[in-house]
Amino acid sequence: MSGGARTAIIGGGMAGCAAAKELITAGREVVIFETADGLGGRARSWHSPEIEPDVGINLMYVSFYQLMSEHIREYGLSDELVQLSSDVFVVDNGVPVSLSSDSPRSLLSYKHVSLKDRFSFLFTTLREVRRRNELSLFDPIMSAPLDDGSTAAEYGYRHVSRRGFDFLLRPQIEGFWNFACEDISAVHARALLAWMGGSGFYVFRGGMEIIAEKNAEGADLRLSHQVTDLRLVDGKVRVTALHTEGEPVTETFDDVLIATPAPIAAKLTAAMPPDVVGSTARKFLETQEYEPALSVSYLVDAGSMPAEAHIVAGGPDDPPLRNMITHPRQVRDAHGGLVDKLLVFTYPGRANTRRLIGRTEEEQFAAVTPLLTTLWPDFPTDAQPFRIAERPYGFPIPAPGRYHQAVQVMRQQGAPVVFAGDYFNAPTTEAALLSGVRAAAALTTVS
Ligand SMILES: Cc1cc2nc3c(=O)[nH]c(=O)nc-3n(C[C@H](O)[C@H](O)[C@H](O)COP(=O)(O)OP(=O)(O)OC[C@H]3O[C@@H](n4cnc5c(N)ncnc54)[C@H](O)[C@@H]3O)c2cc1C
Repeated sequence: MSGGARTAIIGGGMAGCAAAKELITAGREVVIFETADGLGGRARSWHSPEIEPDVGINLMYVSFYQLMSEHIREYGLSDELVQLSSDVFVVDNGVPVSLSSDSPRSLLSYKHVSLKDRFSFLFTTLREVRRRNELSLFDPIMSAPLDDGSTAAEYGYRHVSRRGFDFLLRPQIEGFWNFACEDISAVHARALLAWMGGSGFYVFRGGMEIIAEKNAEGADLRLSHQVTDLRLVDGKVRVTALHTEGEPVTETFDDVLIATPAPIAAKLTAAMPPDVVGSTARKFLETQEYEPALSVSYLVDAGSMPAEAHIVAGGPDDPPLRNMITHPRQVRDAHGGLVDKLLVFTYPGRANTRRLIGRTEEEQFAAVTPLLTTLWPDFPTDAQPFRIAERPYGFPIPAPGRYHQAVQVMRQQGAPVVFAGDYFNAPTTEAALLSGVRAAAALTTVS
């Protein structure tokens, strides 16, 4: 099947929209089905008129994201980028110490661990930097040969002391993704070390969803349509979707690209025969696990905390609160004037997140507010609870061995059903984009 064919994409996140761009370029007619009322998936921000700029969760683009950098150039979006400081504060028992990812000096003066650990960490990092061309945070084809079954924790403890690992590398992984270093492949940690140092961190002024929206231009959008059933009928794919306010709709396509989180993809293809979704792909989808994410935000007075900071809990344990991210915002007061504030996003640790997902906002704020001082003892007592965002499928866990499975699935898949999503590698928008490009190629390449 090539140009002229009609393809359904299920899921309008970064992966689905990147695939749409490729398929449209290849001459296909593309329809995107998306449950939400806008594109971008987990990379989509919330917007709130009370604050200026009006954007809430705003994902980071890092300067070594190759595909996204190409999109930024192609769409002329460099003016949309706002550079962030790369300051991370690691907290031990209420004591924060700055650890800048692009400054060896900051590492060498970092007081939470011994001088020996600081030097060992620096040497380990430099060794991985030298192997950059073998290490990727996005591409399972590069990661698989190094995925030897060991975990990030085992890797870390081989190179620095327990305390060294728990206060240097662990917070930089768990503080961003929330999964335990004991559960993920060492390759993820190695790629992070190889690439993070010296990188620039940016957010998009109006939210990262602009990349998804641009990539989807030319596709026919079915927003607020949740796909509930996929069937093969006479070699074609029949898609049934439920509109939020209407009757189910059914349409038939030549093929389908499924770009939802893995458990949803597994359910949607449960009735597909084994020659269409083979046992390797089925097992891969059914066994993918996720850490959920709960972002609870507060407004505090500007100056009461560091701005543009990423404050993370150090140590081996699952903390009550995992991290806080602060962004400057202006908020309109009763007289219409703008007042400088900080928007603080806080993410509970693993156990608290799992416990609080699906509860009411009142319950979530009531549970999280008393925990704020466990991470930042001077957290302002008059902080104003603001917004909450839930991501039940927050972060796919790159468990040891998954890169091998991902590569097998990627290489075996082809029309009429293919899959894309960040779970093919690790939770970054760049990995999602790459998976979308690869899945589109699997549909358009005639073997
Ligand atoms: C809290 C948090 C912070 C993050 N921060 C960063 C960051 O700073 N930088 C970074 O690069 N990455 C970050 N990530 C990771 C990034 O968000 C993801 O890796 C990426 O957005 C995943 O894209 P995707 O297209 O694979 O999946 P998704 O974004 O999950 O897209 C799947 C889409 O499918 C839709 N869908 C699901 N079921 C159906 C159905 N039945 N019918 C129709 N549509 C359906 C969903 O609504 C969704 O839009 C973060 C993730 C989280 C949770």
